[in-house]
Amino acid sequence: MEERVVRKLMASVKCNQCGQPYRLENVQVLGRHQDMWFFNVYCAHCHNQYFIAATVNADQTTTITDLTPADVTRLQKANPLTSDDVLDMHSYLKNYQGDITRLFNTNAFNI
Ligand SMILES: [Zn+2]
Repeated sequence: MEERVVRKLMASVKCNQCGQPYRLENVQVLGRHQDMWFFNVYCAHCHNQYFIAATVNADQTTTITDLTPADVTRLQKANPLTSDDVLDMHSYLKNYQGDITRLFNTNAFNI
């Protein structure tokens, strides 16, 4: 599936915090591994920023996140992501060669 189509799909997803849809210009693709896509999304309504991992294919779209309400509270208090953070993640995912499940079983993304 093309990146522009996937970005439009993500723009139809509603913010976990306030329930407003994301704007297309605030959905950034960080990377992809097979049907798993990684996004950085910013909610223009409540000004929260999220990392979203989603499986996307032509038959179905499922949004998943490992954020619990406690995670959301903790991340709201964290420093905002910078463009360098996004570029670092993009480079990491672009060069990642391992099993995708290992990516989520590490503490690499804990703040
Ligand atoms: Zn929001």
